[in-house]
Amino acid sequence: MKAERLLIVVSAPSGAGKTTLCEEAVRRVPGLVHSVSYTTRSPRPDESDGRDYHFVGEATFRQMVAEGAFAEWATVHGHLYGTSRRDLEAHFAAGNDVILDIDTQGAAILREAYRDGVFVFILPPSFAQLEARLRGRRTDRSEEIARRLERARAEMAAYPLYEYVVVNDDVERAVGMLYAIITAERSKSRRFTPAPEMAPGR
Ligand code: 5GP
Repeated sequence: MKAERLLIVVSAPSGAGKTTLCEEAVRRVPGLVHSVSYTTRSPRPDESDGRDYHFVGEATFRQMVAEGAFAEWATVHGHLYGTSRRDLEAHFAAGNDVILDIDTQGAAILREAYRDGVFVFILPPSFAQLEARLRGRRTDRSEEIARRLERARAEMAAYPLYEYVVVNDDVERAVGMLYAIITAERSKSRRFTPAPEMAPGR
């Protein structure tokens, strides 16, 4: 599959600040939308259905898997998460570029399906900082935090598989880098459609 529009896939260990960076990127980059994933995990107090995730039961999720509704899906921290193929295609059809905030397993699936995708890994400045951020969140129980830390360590090892790395030592700087990456990718000559009179070989 070759997307005419840009597909930006962002992964990071939990607590690296990926959600904030993706939200800021959507706010600042015209024509960039975030695709809302499906998940079987329960909403956190500040989350709402349809905005942060589509919160569904496991039976519904499994049914969607069986129907081939997901461009990718994975089990993360014991819950199921997936990107709707239809949502993705609808965003592209509307002329938008799409940013996805997904784990490394999902990114690996999309790397095969969307070869033209842009893969960005967000790293925290240090593991100690990551731990502090996860503990500071206070929305997850301590065993959940321990599980996320263990997984974060494993996830960080995946960064060489991504084209770009952004170290989130400062949100403003990191958003600036993400903006620059998206702008540069949009400017690639192979993505440029010239006006007929400007087409090469005319
Ligand atoms: P959280 O539960 O903290 O919102 O997200 C947990 C992890 O699941 C994060 O790494 C997030 O990027 C990932 N995730 C969110 N949506 C999707 C999705 O649609 N597919 C996959 N593979 N991972 C997702």
